[in-house]
Amino acid sequence: MRSGVDGLPSDYVKILFVTPECYPLVKTGGLADVAGALPMALGPMGVDAQVLLPGYPGVRAQLHSAQRVARLPGLFGGNAELVRGTTAHGLSVMLIDAPHLYHRPGGPYLGPDGKDWPDNHLRFAALSWVGAQLAFGRLGDWKPDLVHLHDWQAALTAAYLRFDKERAAAPPTVLTIHNLAFQGLFEPSVRKALQLPAEAMHVDGMEYWGTLSFLKAGVQWASHLSTVSPTYAREILTPNDGMGFDGLLRARSNELTGIVNGIDTGLWDPETDPHLAAPFSARKLTAKAKNTAALQRELGLPVRSDVPVLAVVSRLTAQKGLDLLLDALPRVLATDAQLVVLGTGDTALEADFRDAAEAYPTQVATVIGFDEALSHRLQAGAHAMVVPSRFEPCGLTQLYGLRYGAIPVVARVGGLADTVIDANEAALHDGVATGVQFSPVEADALAVAIERTIELFRDKVAWQKIQKRAMSRDVGWGSRAAQYESLYAKVLAGRAQ
Ligand code: ADP
Repeated sequence: MRSGVDGLPSDYVKILFVTPECYPLVKTGGLADVAGALPMALGPMGVDAQVLLPGYPGVRAQLHSAQRVARLPGLFGGNAELVRGTTAHGLSVMLIDAPHLYHRPGGPYLGPDGKDWPDNHLRFAALSWVGAQLAFGRLGDWKPDLVHLHDWQAALTAAYLRFDKERAAAPPTVLTIHNLAFQGLFEPSVRKALQLPAEAMHVDGMEYWGTLSFLKAGVQWASHLSTVSPTYAREILTPNDGMGFDGLLRARSNELTGIVNGIDTGLWDPETDPHLAAPFSARKLTAKAKNTAALQRELGLPVRSDVPVLAVVSRLTAQKGLDLLLDALPRVLATDAQLVVLGTGDTALEADFRDAAEAYPTQVATVIGFDEALSHRLQAGAHAMVVPSRFEPCGLTQLYGLRYGAIPVVARVGGLADTVIDANEAALHDGVATGVQFSPVEADALAVAIERTIELFRDKVAWQKIQKRAMSRDVGWGSRAAQYESLYAKVLAGRAQ
């Protein structure tokens, strides 16, 4: 059998992932975890998945055997090259090494001043354009059967395919919306700089209420749409959660699929996690207490085994509903609980959580920043993960919580509703509860949910049962990757008809 890229058999289905982030190379949120883990999980299912990513600073140095695949002269204002290499965990990645677009201090989307990079339209048009060239097989010897686009930053690929003179030869595309709140909106005048024809800027194209929307281009022109949980897939069809896109999405609702994210159970395994003070598992659950004590010590809280430790690991934005937790805080802390917060985002929320730590030094610890290792230690040490999101496409921290026996306390929305079973009387009786849900998403309901959680925590037998059940939930990628694989097959078959 002839060999494809990296020695894979040539009859493997070839999928190109176009994404603005990918763990462990660059991560600001859950999309990175998905883009790092899903392609790996697809490998055993006969999928040759390659990831295309912008070459942010430091990313190329993390790749093994990086080699130039193609030159990209004059790529949106400068010369660049396409480089292919492998991550430490074996993921095959192609990088767009474009110094004029990506080599600068700051984040993938924001500059050091906390504002969007002024040329973000060019930075992600470049990602999308290179994605389209790869799709046509014009760069190197690898041509995908299908292109999987992730969020607005990659969505313009669908436009470049659509307006290419060889459009008939374009492979089909799947656009996954990881968060509908991010729509890639720009001034309509940037259209020329994107090298797209005037006809693209139409109400049935990427024109969106007087702006130009990258996401809308993808929603219009991708062959199929998906999002990261069945509940979110339904929610975004409604005016309430559709963020202005609900009409467009309703028009394509037959081509919209919701698949819950998995997590990398190798990286997130409390038995082998190198970040932890002590390994533990559902069978050796008592060892979790050592992680709780280590966390309390590390964050300067009183080391006590009798208090429930609640934790938050999150972007600090309105979406995540953490202002509700601040409102509920006096009531929550009156129950003799501790709260640890790891997050970064809105300066006002950062200041509020810092203030809370100052006001309650024996009960609240706040770490502002992005710290992957600490996020593991928090999951290991905490008794409960609090996720009060106003909307949540899937959410990953509750899945890590399940795996680490940190019982999720979640708003009943989106993927949180799909992945946590509320410990109501019936679920407790039937032995299926894995967490606590609350609705409506308001401070009072959150406070009640936390009080219910603490009550359960005080019943050691009931608590251990929930923890063990949570830890035994299937949160890995296996079955979810299989769903993507059958979605790809369906899209490819539709194409063949
Ligand atoms: P979103 O993608 O909306 O930010 P998710 O729950 O899907 O939310 O994914 C968030 C991911 O980012 C998780 O892996 C979480 O552990 C991680 N994360 C969020 N904030 C931080 C932080 N301050 N430090 C370390 N990891 C973080």
